[in-house]
Amino acid sequence: LFLTFEGIDGSGKSTQARLLADALRAQGQDVILTREPGGSPGAEEIRRLVLEGDPDRWSAETEILLFTAARRDHLERTIEPALAAGKVVICDRFADSTRMYQGLSRGNLRRVVDQLHVLMIGREPDLTLLIDMEPSTGLNRAKGRQGTEERFEDFGVELQHKMRAGFLSLAQEFADRFRVIDGDRGIQDVSADVTAAVADALIH
Ligand code: C5P
Repeated sequence: LFLTFEGIDGSGKSTQARLLADALRAQGQDVILTREPGGSPGAEEIRRLVLEGDPDRWSAETEILLFTAARRDHLERTIEPALAAGKVVICDRFADSTRMYQGLSRGNLRRVVDQLHVLMIGREPDLTLLIDMEPSTGLNRAKGRQGTEERFEDFGVELQHKMRAGFLSLAQEFADRFRVIDGDRGIQDVSADVTAAVADALIH
C-alpha cells in the first residue's frame, strides 16, 4: 500500500504522516515513512542541490528534471523494494507536489511535469491525503520554522492561496485516490480523520 501526504507549507502533513505511521505500526503493519524530495541517499543529495543555496540557481525546467531524477532514485531504491516486500509506504510529498510547485507556481509547466512522469515514474499512490488549510495559518506555522532549509521566497500568502486552490483542483482531477482532510483543527482531530480515511481505503 502506497500512501502519500500533500499540502501547502505548514499544513502539518509531516506530523500527520508520522502519526499515521505510528498508528499503523501499532496495528502490526510493517511501515516505511519517507519523504520527497529525498528518501534515498542519492535523492537526498539532489534535495540539497535544489533546496539549499540560491533559489534562482536552477530554471523551472531544470528543477523539474532534478525532482524527477530524485523521484526515480527514491522509487527504485526505497519505495518499490518496500512495496514488493509487502510493506506500507507513507511518503511526505510525491509527484503531486511537483505538479503544483514546479508545474504551477514556477510557470505553466504542468504538461512537462506530466510527460516526464509518464516516461520516468509511471506510478501513482494508492491513496493521497491532502491536508487542506487556510494559507495564513500554514504560513505562520511555516515561518515559525525559519532557519531550516525552507524556501522563504515562496512564503507569500498569495502564492499559498494559489497552491491551496491548485491542490484542491488536483484532488478533483484524481478524485479516485485523493481524500481531502480539514487541517484547520487540532492535531488529534486531523489524525483521527486521516486514520479513518486510510481504514476506509483498506476496505474498498
Ligand atoms: O515538505 P516540505 O514542506 O518540507 O518541503 C520542503 C520545501 O520544498 C517546501 O518549501 C516546498 O515548497 C519545496 N518543494 C518544492 N517542490 C517540490 C517539493 C517541495 O519546491 N516538488
